[in-house]
Amino acid sequence: MSENFLIEGKSDEFYMELALREAVKAANAGEVPIGAVIVKDDRVIARSWNQVETLKDATAHAEMLALTSAMSSVGDWRLEGCTVFVTKEPCPMCAGALVHCRPDRVVFGIPDPKGGAAGGWINLLDSNPPLNHKCEVTSEVLKDECLAILQSFFREARAKKKAEKDAKKQDSSNEVEDS
Ligand SMILES: [Zn+2]
Repeated sequence: MSENFLIEGKSDEFYMELALREAVKAANAGEVPIGAVIVKDDRVIARSWNQVETLKDATAHAEMLALTSAMSSVGDWRLEGCTVFVTKEPCPMCAGALVHCRPDRVVFGIPDPKGGAAGGWINLLDSNPPLNHKCEVTSEVLKDECLAILQSFFREARAKKKAEKDAKKQDSSNEVEDS
């Protein structure tokens, strides 16, 4: 029996924890750690992590991959009755895709005032007439945990970049000594 059938009546925090696990997979693959899960009737029907580098696809955000997987799972592009959990506020591309797929709710961890499209920068999820669907939005669920994994990823990325730069400097100074 799949673990999905054992999950019943769980809280937003419970599912965000699962989205965080997806984010960890992204970090392990060297991707910006963002994860998403989609839940229907208290069952996880899709889970995914950001795979932009892995797939060499700028549209391969966690939400996009999870939406495709969820639509395939329910056999319908209408994700009525579904809730999308994602560790960071959706960008405009993902928010646009979300309203097209029509889940009932979107729950995210970290708000993004610079680029978020669920109310941070703009709000595409709140009944914009041409898009014709409104998602209920809940924000800042496990925000600190979602933020911590992103921050440690960028800290490590900066340290790695600096180490590479220092190694290069070392190399070029050796060349000077050699000549
Ligand atoms: Zn996105």
